[in-house]
Amino acid sequence: MAKIVLHKSSAIDFQCPHCKQAMTVERDMQGIEFDCPSCGSSINCPAGMQAPRQQQGNDDQARLLETIARSSEETAKAAREIRNMIALVLFFWIAIAVLAVLFGSLSI
Ligand SMILES: [Zn+2]
Repeated sequence: MAKIVLHKSSAIDFQCPHCKQAMTVERDMQGIEFDCPSCGSSINCPAGMQAPRQQQGNDDQARLLETIARSSEETAKAAREIRNMIALVLFFWIAIAVLAVLFGSLSI
């Protein structure tokens, strides 16, 4: 069983997925499985999910954070495109409704 320490400068914070116990573990424990000190469930220490507190030249973590940033950027772009499409469809419906009202009032 890996040791859990409170050494802020090279540590990461995360929650136990089972009991939500907040804990701090050594940075080099990332990806290592250990037992939760609170509920005893085995947990995988999340790798690279926290913003780095210290620049350590951790390339893997930087790459992972970059990937997360890029994917959220793509999601935001897709959401924008969907919003634009909905706006366009709504605009057409309103135009059709206005035309229908105009033609309706003309024929009366
Ligand atoms: Zn737990």
